[in-house]
Amino acid sequence: MDDYYAASDGNSGHTRTEAQPSWKELMSVDLEAPLRVISLHDLLYCERLFYFTEVEGIQNPTALVYAGRRLHDDVVPLDDEAPEHRSLEVASETWGLVGKVDAVRRRDGRWVAYEHKRGRCHRGPAKEVLAWPSDRIQAVAYAVLLEEALGETVTQARVRYHADNVTAFIEIDDAAKDDLRRAIERARELRQTVARPPVAENENLCVRCSLAPVCLPEEERLAAHEHLGDEEAEPDANRPHPGPLPEGEGARHVPTLFPSNRERQTLHVVSPKARVGRSGETLVVTSENEAREKVTQRVPIEEIDALVIHGFGQVTTQAIHLCASRGVAVQWMTMGGKFAAGTTGQPGRVQQRIRQYAGLTDGATRLRLARRLVHAKVETQLRYLLRASRGDGPVRGACLPHLERIRESLRKVNTAGSEESLLGMAAKAYFAALPSLLSPQVPAEMRPAGRSKHPPRDRFNALLSFGYAMLQTAVHRSAVAVGLEPALSFYHRPRTAAPPLVLDVMELFRTILWEIPLIGSVNRLQWSVDRDFAISPGQVWLSDEGRKTAIKLFEERLEESHKHPHTGQALTYARMIELELRLLEKEWSGCPGLFARMRVR
Ligand code: SF4
Repeated sequence: MDDYYAASDGNSGHTRTEAQPSWKELMSVDLEAPLRVISLHDLLYCERLFYFTEVEGIQNPTALVYAGRRLHDDVVPLDDEAPEHRSLEVASETWGLVGKVDAVRRRDGRWVAYEHKRGRCHRGPAKEVLAWPSDRIQAVAYAVLLEEALGETVTQARVRYHADNVTAFIEIDDAAKDDLRRAIERARELRQTVARPPVAENENLCVRCSLAPVCLPEEERLAAHEHLGDEEAEPDANRPHPGPLPEGEGARHVPTLFPSNRERQTLHVVSPKARVGRSGETLVVTSENEAREKVTQRVPIEEIDALVIHGFGQVTTQAIHLCASRGVAVQWMTMGGKFAAGTTGQPGRVQQRIRQYAGLTDGATRLRLARRLVHAKVETQLRYLLRASRGDGPVRGACLPHLERIRESLRKVNTAGSEESLLGMAAKAYFAALPSLLSPQVPAEMRPAGRSKHPPRDRFNALLSFGYAMLQTAVHRSAVAVGLEPALSFYHRPRTAAPPLVLDVMELFRTILWEIPLIGSVNRLQWSVDRDFAISPGQVWLSDEGRKTAIKLFEERLEESHKHPHTGQALTYARMIELELRLLEKEWSGCPGLFARMRVR
C-alpha cells in the first residue's frame, strides 16, 4: 500500500502551488450558473437533497418521480375557458433562475402560475388548504419569472394537489419575494460547500424522498447513535447531530428505505455466435440452438441492469447506445471468464471522487478500512468453516489445524503491521481446509489440488476463477453506478490487473457469493466432469454448458436474501453489494463506521 500512495502523493506533481487556481476558482463558472427552480424546491424540502441533486449531480428517478412527470404530461386537464400556456420555459438573469412552469392561465384579467402535485396539500391550524413550504417557494419563483417574461405583474400562484383535489393560493407579495431571495442566497451558499449537509431531522421527509437509497438516512442515524465511527477515530465535534432514531430512544430501528430486491436482471450472452441488436426500446439477441436453427430472444431494456458478453458474441453500436442511454452497463468477459472491458454511461460524480481521493490519501483512513475489511473477510471464512463442519467429527478434525491458524490471523488484525500478510496466512489455511468440506461422493476429478489461478489447473479451480470473475463484473458495475472511481482503493495495489477498489470490495463477497454456493453445488454432484469443462494440457476451462450452469448458480445466489447483521435489514445479495459500496462511500463523506460489518451467519 505504501508504494502506491508515496508515488501518488510525492511524485505525481499534483501538489497545488500559490500560482495555481483553487478548485473553487476553477469551478467559478458552474458556481455562477443559474439555479433551477426545482432545486429550490429540493432545498426547502431538505438541504441534503438539494446538495445531492445540485452539487453532486445525483438523480435517482423512482416510480413516484416518473408518475409525477406523467401527471404533468397527461393529467392536467385542458382549460377551454381561459387563455393558457403549458410547460412554459422561463429564465431571469436578475434572479439567476431557470425553470419550466406547468401552466399559466388568465384569471380575472391577470396571469396566474399553476403548479401541479400528485400528493396531498398541507393543512393549517383551521384545516385550511396551504401549500407545503417547498411547493410554495417553487410557485413563488415561477411567478416572479413569469412577471419578467410577460412584462406584467403576477400577483398570484396556485398549487393544485391532485390527491386531495384542492388548490392552494399563494400571494406574490414582498414577503414572498423576500423568502425567495433568502432561499436563493442559501442555495448559492450551499453550492460552494464541499461537505454534505446532515440528514433531515424529520424522518417523515425521507420516506417519500427519491434519493433515500443513495442518502441512507436510517443507516446514518444508526451509525451515529451507536458511535460506530468512533472505533478508531476521534468524534468530530463540528459534525451536526443526525436527528432522532425513528422508533424512540434506544429502540433498534431496522432500515427500510433501501430497496431490498433487485428491480432488474443481468442479461448474460454466452454463445459465440450470438448477436445483440436493437429494436426500439428492446434488445434483440439472435443465436443458434444445438440444431443450428436461428433463435431470437427479445428483452425490454427496462428489465435489465447489465448486458454481459462472455467470449465473442457481437453487440451492435445501436444496442450499446440504447444501454448507455438507459444506464445499463455493457461488460465483456473472455472465454476463460476474465473481465475484459466495460462501458459506463456516467461522467463520474466529481464531489464524491474528490472526497474518495482525499479519504484514500489519508493513511489513517486507509488503515482503518483495511483492518475492517481483513477482519470481515477472515471472520467470514472462519464462520463458514465452523458452520460447514459442525456436527461432523471427521470434517471438523480435518479443519482444526487450519481453523487455529485463521483464528490467530483474526486475533492479530488490529495490532500487526501487515494486514496483507495476515490475509494471505488466513487464505492459505482456508483453502487448505476447503477440500475437507467436499462430501465423499464427489469424484476425484472435481476435487482441488491447492489453489491455481493463471491458468486454473483443475475443474474446481476453473469454477472458482470463473465465479470470481462474475463477482468482479457485479462489483464493478455497482461501484460505477454508486459513482465511485474503481481505480482508487484502500487495500489492493494499483499494479494488479483489475481495478483495486473492485478487488477490495470483492473480498467481502468471495466466500458468501461464490465459494459457499459452489461447494454446495459440487456436493450435490451438479457438475459433469466431461460436459462442463474443456481440458487442455496444464489448464482447465469451462465449456459453454459449464459457463451456463455457473452463471445460473451465481445469478440465483444474487437473488437470495440475507439479513445485514448490523442494520438488521434483509436484502438480496445483489442489493447487499450496492449497499456496502454506498456505506464505503460514507466512510469518507462524514458517516464512517458501517462499511464491512456484514458477516456470514
Ligand atoms: S433521504 Fe431524508 S435526509 Fe436524505 S436527502 Fe432525502 S429527505 Fe434528506
